[in-house]
Amino acid sequence: MADTNLMAIPGQVDPVPVAREITPRADGRIDLLGLTKKQIMDLFAGAGLDAKQSKLRAKQVFHWIYHRGETEFEAMTDIAKTMRPWLAERFVIARPDVVEAQHSSDGTRKWLLKTADGHEYEMVFIPDETRGTLCVSSQVGCTLNCRFCHTGTMRLVRNLTPGEIVGQVMLARDALGEWPKGKMDFAEEESESEYRADGRLLTNIVMMGMGEPLYNFDNVRDALRIVMDGEGLALSKRRITLSTSGVVPAMARCGEEIGVNLAVSLHAVTKKVRDEIVPINRKYGIEELLQACADYPGASNARRITFEYVMLKDKNDSDDDARELVRLINQFDLPAKVNLIPFNPWPGAPYECSTPERIRAFSSIVFEAGISAPVRTPRGRDIDAACGQLKTTAEKKSRAQRDREAAAAAAG
Ligand code: SAH
Ligand code: SF4
Repeated sequence: MADTNLMAIPGQVDPVPVAREITPRADGRIDLLGLTKKQIMDLFAGAGLDAKQSKLRAKQVFHWIYHRGETEFEAMTDIAKTMRPWLAERFVIARPDVVEAQHSSDGTRKWLLKTADGHEYEMVFIPDETRGTLCVSSQVGCTLNCRFCHTGTMRLVRNLTPGEIVGQVMLARDALGEWPKGKMDFAEEESESEYRADGRLLTNIVMMGMGEPLYNFDNVRDALRIVMDGEGLALSKRRITLSTSGVVPAMARCGEEIGVNLAVSLHAVTKKVRDEIVPINRKYGIEELLQACADYPGASNARRITFEYVMLKDKNDSDDDARELVRLINQFDLPAKVNLIPFNPWPGAPYECSTPERIRAFSSIVFEAGISAPVRTPRGRDIDAACGQLKTTAEKKSRAQRDREAAAAAAG
C-alpha cells in the first residue's frame, strides 16, 4: 500500500514522516489503540454521544482496553447492551500485525511486526530470574547511523505512532497471557493462585528497540503516559527506561514530561572516537551531553543514569578509556552506573567485540572507582534479537521470496 497516510512534521530540518494519529481504516472504523482518554471522549462526542455519556464511556472503554486487554466491545459487560454494537460499528481496538514470532534457545522472544501501511519493525522480550523486560521500538529504522548498530544501517522509514508503540506492550501481554481476570472469569480448572493482576512476567520496559526515541518525542511520551496510566497498564515509571544516543535538547523534556529512567549510549570518551562511532556527537559533544545528564530531572543516587558502553576491540576498550570514563563521571558528579555491552556482530559490521579479558579489565577499573559496571550477557543472539541486531529492510528477503526459494530448493 502506498504511504498515503503519512504527513511530514513541519519545522524540522529533516522532516520525519509520521502516520496520522487517527488513521482511517479501509472499513471506515477508527482504531482506539494509543489514543488518550480525552481523544476517545472527543471521538465519542463527535459520533453523537452527549458530553456526560462520552466521558463515562471513554473511561469505561479505556479501562477495558488497558486494564483488561479486551478487544471486543461485546465483552465490555458494564456498557449497556445496546451501546456495544453502536461502538463496534464505529470503532475497533486493534493490535499490530505479527509477521513472525521467534523463540531463542535462551528464552528471549522476538516479534517481527507490521504497520497498517506495510512497514516492518521489531520488539523483543527478555525474561530472567527476577524480571521480564520488553524492548520496544520507537521508529521504523533510525534517524541516526551509529557505526556499530545494525539498525543504523537502515534508512529511517518513519516514526511509530503512539498506537504502534503501546501496541507492542499490548501484544506482549497477549502473548504472555497475563491480562488480569475478573473473579467471574476463572475457568473451572483454574485456581485463584494463577491470578496475575500485577502482570508478573512483563515487569519492565526499555525503549531500546529500533530507533531514537527522543527524535520521536511526542509519540513516545504519549505512548508511555498511557503505559503508566494508573487506570490502565499502570506500569511504574521506575520500571521504564528510555535510552538515547544523546539528543541533548530533548533530555530535560524527557525528565519533566515523561519522568522515566534515563540510559545514555555513551560508548566512547574522546571526541575523536565518539564522533566516529556515534555521529550525533558531532552535533552534541560529550561535555554537553554529560551536563544534560547532570541536570536530568529526577536523577539521584537512588535513580542513577545508566551509561551504555559497547565494547569494541581496539577502538574504545583500553585502560586509559576506562580511567577517562571514571574521570568524566566524577567531573560531572553524576549518579551513574555503567553497562558494558559486548559488541553483537552482524554481517558486514566494521568492528569486532573486545576480548573477555579486556572487558573484565575495563570493568574492574570502573568498579574499583566505586561505580557499578556489570557486563551484560548478550541475549537472543541466535535469533538476531540482541542489542543492535534489530533490522528490518527491503534488503532482507520477503516472506514470499523465502517461500519461493524453499519451494525451488525442495523441487530441485
Ligand atoms: N537509539 C537508542 C536506543 C536503541 S539502541 C540509543 O542508541 O540509545 C539500544 C542500545 O544498544 C544502545 O546503547 C546501542 O548503542 C546499543 N547497540 C547498538 N548496536 C549494538 C551492537 N551491535 N552491539 C551491542 N550493542 C549495540
Ligand atoms: Fe539509532 Fe540507537 Fe542504533 Fe544509534 S544505536 S543507530 S541511535 S538505534
